[in-house]
Amino acid sequence: MNMMLAPRSLPSYLDQSAAVRARFARLKAREVILRVEHLSKAFTTRKGSTLALNDISFETHRREFLCVVGPSGCGKSTLVRILAGLEEHSDGDVLLQGKPVTAPGSDRGMVFQGYTLFPWLTVKKNVMFGLEVNGKGKHEAETQALQWLQLVGLAKFAESYPHQLSGGMKQRVAIVRALANQPRILLMDEPFGALDAQTRARMQAHLLEIWRQIDITIVFITHDLDEAIFLADRILVLSAHPGEVQELIEVPVPHPRSSAQFITPEFLSTKARLEELIHKGTAHGEEEDADTYHMVARLTDVADSVD
Ligand code: ADP
Ligand code: MG
Repeated sequence: MNMMLAPRSLPSYLDQSAAVRARFARLKAREVILRVEHLSKAFTTRKGSTLALNDISFETHRREFLCVVGPSGCGKSTLVRILAGLEEHSDGDVLLQGKPVTAPGSDRGMVFQGYTLFPWLTVKKNVMFGLEVNGKGKHEAETQALQWLQLVGLAKFAESYPHQLSGGMKQRVAIVRALANQPRILLMDEPFGALDAQTRARMQAHLLEIWRQIDITIVFITHDLDEAIFLADRILVLSAHPGEVQELIEVPVPHPRSSAQFITPEFLSTKARLEELIHKGTAHGEEEDADTYHMVARLTDVADSVD
């Protein structure tokens, strides 16, 4: 049915309803959590030096959901590894709440595409692990781990091992394991890339539901444009190798998000713009539980609404 909308009939992706405009004003009034200034990264190999990222600058605010898109090889994973403190940068600054990032820290949580759970630990112990490393007693760690698992509908799998879970379930555990340490920012590098389309869609909805209820800023890397539009407040578009900022797009699709919005004019005009930018330089099997999110307010304090 969206075929009936000729591109010419779409409104501009820059047009925002009054509600969307007001929401962006609230978002930008929140403190800046992450500031990246003139970031560059060159890799030196035996064959010489390659510039992976060139002069990247952007910032994200508290409780913002920022997606980063760009063609394969443009440096998305490099960027997220630098933000995580896993990779050194060559030039520029990365500031998390004003402090330079130089090494991994508990103020950042990470979720990658590969399943990074410890296979020899139960689901519950996987979530408890970071809590105990960060000084929580065993009993408190266990109580909190179970609350987090309840949040994503997996409390009944607490004593299971990762190999007994589906891909989507494993990623839900990986997400709450990262969130359990209460990081300021969650860094996600194509976390749903290995999932089938249905599971992926369900995971996107899950993630938004978690995000809107807790105080977390998310930087989410993807090359799936629909995924980026569905999830993001703003989308940072990188150009092909070396990665440079092409545009920071404010997604005009209202909140709360739903899959019904995939065919709205705002969604389609944003997608058309992303396709234009990206292609310019380059060639679920689990049950839902509506009660799952109810206890989250007990886990973190949330001052204002992201809707
Ligand atoms: P993306 O995640 O967007 O696909 P990457 O960040 O993985 O891109 O890679 C960006 C560029 O940096 C690529 O050209 C890649 O070959 C290069 N690169 C990434 N990691 C290294 C490394 N450790 N050594 C040398 N070059 C690298
Ligand atoms: Mg990558």
